[in-house]
Amino acid sequence: MSARLIDGKAIAEQINAETAAAIVRLKTERKITPGLAVVLVGENPASLAYVSSKDKMCARLGMHSVRINLPATTTQAQLLAKINDLNSDRTIHGILVQAPLPSQISEEAIFATITPSKDVDGFHPLNVGKLALGDETGFAPCTPAGVHQLLIRSDVKIEGAHVVVLGRSRIVGRPVSLILSQKSSNANATVTVAHSRSRDLAGVCRSADILVAAIGVPHFVKADMVRDGAVVIDVGINRVEDKTIEKGYRLVGDVDFAPVSQKASLITPVPGGVGPMTIAMLMHNTYRAAVNSIAS
Ligand code: NDP
Repeated sequence: MSARLIDGKAIAEQINAETAAAIVRLKTERKITPGLAVVLVGENPASLAYVSSKDKMCARLGMHSVRINLPATTTQAQLLAKINDLNSDRTIHGILVQAPLPSQISEEAIFATITPSKDVDGFHPLNVGKLALGDETGFAPCTPAGVHQLLIRSDVKIEGAHVVVLGRSRIVGRPVSLILSQKSSNANATVTVAHSRSRDLAGVCRSADILVAAIGVPHFVKADMVRDGAVVIDVGINRVEDKTIEKGYRLVGDVDFAPVSQKASLITPVPGGVGPMTIAMLMHNTYRAAVNSIAS
């Protein structure tokens, strides 16, 4: 079998167009412009690139955005004070603090300080709890929500499917497993979460109708770990050295793409699969936060 590609770029564009149209209505009917604040501490090159693409997307979709650049020496107290300012800023509906943070700052403390109604990244304990409870009034983290949308919009039958999620992180694996196992017609999957202590990983992966790889190990998932006809979602974004190109590296996923795509029925590429969905879901969450602010 040769897999059909799931075009994350095209699906993200579809979602962005829906969000942009909804923003136009919100501005016209309620005179509200959704606002996103992105806080960057330090100058990690990958984080700088992510943050500037978020700025550009806000502008494209008609949102207000504020970028706050803080030095790498920022203390936790200084960052908490900045977040508290943003929590009370009525022009800001979503707050995103770009990870990773310098070692003197606890990510948990930061995420727990963002007002839950502005926590468009979905990392505040209240939103994590709502996701676990199946309460859709919370915010789901953007990459897992993007994985869900990729499956839905590619007409993959999730209900009743066996999903194996490789990886159990707070940001990706765990929330993907919660979303896909919800009691809901867009979910209802039987989910297995596998990780570095799982026995017989290859066997577990082979039992998947839908395999979601989110471990951060380049090309970890080989063809013999994938059942014929499985749907494969590759969340991994890994830099591997490549001296044949100017920047000296290229991005690859957690899946050994070429051989696995000979067995899968549907597969996401890297780049161009899950990556563009993360930012599309961030924009969507920020729009929702602005709508919710009307009622509050
Ligand atoms: P983490 O490092 O936080 O978590 C990795 C998970 O994978 C852990 O649960 C770990 O197990 C498991 N794991 C690691 N190595 C193995 C192994 N050899 N066998 C089995 N399990 C293993 O990573 P993230 O979840 O943050 O990210 C995963 C990947 O997704 C990365 O490549 C990252 O760059 C990418 N990513 C992509 C995003 C996007 O927008 N597309 C957004 C976020 C992440 P254990 O818990 O036992 O340690």
